[in-house]
Amino acid sequence: MTIALVAHDSRKKELLEWVKFNRKTLFKSNIVCTGTTGRLVRGIFVDYFMESSRSKYERSYWEEVAEHNIQCFHSGPLGGDSEIGAAIANGKIDVLIFFCDNLITQGHQVDISALSRLASLYNIAFATNRTTADMILTSALFNNKEYKRIKPDFTKYLTREVCQYEEAPSKR
Ligand code: PGA
Repeated sequence: MTIALVAHDSRKKELLEWVKFNRKTLFKSNIVCTGTTGRLVRGIFVDYFMESSRSKYERSYWEEVAEHNIQCFHSGPLGGDSEIGAAIANGKIDVLIFFCDNLITQGHQVDISALSRLASLYNIAFATNRTTADMILTSALFNNKEYKRIKPDFTKYLTREVCQYEEAPSKR
């Protein structure tokens, strides 16, 4: 299962608290993030590895582990939201946790709307607040190998008649 994590600046603290609280569950999944969110999420996991492993490894070793396990796309306003949207369209993401700023319009608002639209279109689990994120993570269907998300069938849309194209008679 792959989870995408994104938070706008005003909600990064809230997302990080949620990640920290759920780090043991989250670490069993693949994680992808927009750039800045991902850098902070990696930091939480590095702290977790350091405290839980009690091994001789230096912090730099665990930073590499976190880099390997948590993929960071570009920062959201620089194309990261669109990259996550493309990954959803390609069937690579199962869950999107997106804590967006609901009080101000972002410069990349169109990317945010597109990402939300794709999450809905491709029928992935999608949370924009902590309560919904909690419910997704604690669902019996989360990480359940028996559960197969229904992938929408776009055949009807793709094979619709769009227009009759007839070549215009040559004027020469
Ligand atoms: P960021 O992007 O994680 O790079 O801050 C989030 C966003 O604004 O979409």
